Amino acid sequence: MRPGFVHSGGAMVAVRSWQGRAAQEALAKVKRSGSMRSAPCVICGRPIDYRLPSSDPRGCSVQHLKARSRHPELTWVASNWAPAHLECNKRWGDRDLEVAAPSSRRQVVCLFGPPGAGKTTEAHRSGLPVYDRDDERWSSEAEFAEALRLLGQDPDARAVVVRTGATSSARARIAKLVNATACRLIAADERTLRARIAKRGRSDAMETSVGVKRWFDAFDDADGIRAFTTWDDAMSFSAETKPTNPTSGW
Ligand SMILES: [Zn+2]
Repeated sequence: MRPGFVHSGGAMVAVRSWQGRAAQEALAKVKRSGSMRSAPCVICGRPIDYRLPSSDPRGCSVQHLKARSRHPELTWVASNWAPAHLECNKRWGDRDLEVAAPSSRRQVVCLFGPPGAGKTTEAHRSGLPVYDRDDERWSSEAEFAEALRLLGQDPDARAVVVRTGATSSARARIAKLVNATACRLIAADERTLRARIAKRGRSDAMETSVGVKRWFDAFDDADGIRAFTTWDDAMSFSAETKPTNPTSGW
């Protein structure tokens, strides 16, 4: 590979072009950190499936926030890299990307409610990665809890966390763990839920039905949790969200 030369403070500095092993390693690094944070595409904001091969149009590629063509000196600077879908990256071309400050982009919404209330379906409508214990990617409660803990520490996290959270104390614990930006409740009356579960006719219907009863027996709204209305509402940055003090009401 032939190095390119760029001006840097009056001197000519050699910059390796973006290819070969070094570019592969940079991609691996971006994929690793992106996958750990479930980081969305920096261009379109939609989730990236980090398991896809890099040749897949929906797979992860390295987006240079400051375009290589105009800022060759930033080609190999890791802070200038961000994950983007390969097709988004290509479509974007060689323009610079303005990225909002991470703190203003963080969105971790907790959706609580009894089994059968439609939390998971609603969560997927958000367009954000969904953390649901029922998802088969979690092999154990411990693994799921660890993922939630990492989510809580991630300043750029964007996700929806689905949990039953019948009691205000359980909800406060989860909200604190993931450092939630908002918590919402999706519920329906007990009879509607039971009917819905029976109609689905799954093999675990009986168990789910017991879960519904248990949820209503335990439920309290001492935290004044708000009902889910729209994603615009749940993701708006109003004074309502107090991530550091989840007991003060949502
Ligand atoms: Zn994209």
